[in-house]
Amino acid sequence: MWQTNAVALRAGGEAMLIDSPYFPDELEALPGVLAGAGFEPDALLGTHADFDHLLGRLAFPGLALGLGEPSMERLHREPGAAQRDLRDHDERFYVERPAPLALGAVQGLPVPGSVEVGSEELELHPAEGHTGDGLAVMARWCGVLCAGDYLSGVEIPMISPGGSLAEYRSTLARLAPLVEAADSIVPGHGAPHGRDAALRILGEDVDYLDALERGEERPTLPKGRDSKEQRRIHEGNLARV
Ligand SMILES: [Zn+2]
Repeated sequence: MWQTNAVALRAGGEAMLIDSPYFPDELEALPGVLAGAGFEPDALLGTHADFDHLLGRLAFPGLALGLGEPSMERLHREPGAAQRDLRDHDERFYVERPAPLALGAVQGLPVPGSVEVGSEELELHPAEGHTGDGLAVMARWCGVLCAGDYLSGVEIPMISPGGSLAEYRSTLARLAPLVEAADSIVPGHGAPHGRDAALRILGEDVDYLDALERGEERPTLPKGRDSKEQRRIHEGNLARV
């Protein structure tokens, strides 16, 4: 659903799973697929507290989930919201699950900050604007940037409740040097990009935010993202800003 991505990273005998797929068959297959490639996650990390990024425990029920402290605060402010959103989407798409979502042991992480994976370090960078929480994960040793719900080739910038246009702009400015330093940029939704493609999308997103700020009702949307669904997202953005 929504081309949702999960990313596994490993170093020095440890592995981390960032975000999650959505469908039960994907979640069920994930441990085996990862093990076949030599990845056995020791921990889970979510880029933000939207339900579609929190499902890792359905694949790895024994693992703790790490979230940025702003995401922890959001979970406390909106108890049960992720579970309700998941249930609503499951009903809409006729998805049945063997078990409901239990977030279990959730660990709050300072952002900006870092977490260790084996012998290496994952940098956690603030990424607000899409929502009021959010972080981007930079794995500098292997050149991977997990951008959360930014820099997507399939979705225009979405200002959700709690997000803001000004913060979205700051996040794009913060992501630019990280993109420059990365080889692979993995957005929360849609295909991973090389550096040049990610920089092009970043520029398109800045242009889109300019049009949104001007209140344009029918802005030119970027190539590949000009669809009825993206126009619907634009209407939601207009209502929110
Ligand atoms: Zn998402």
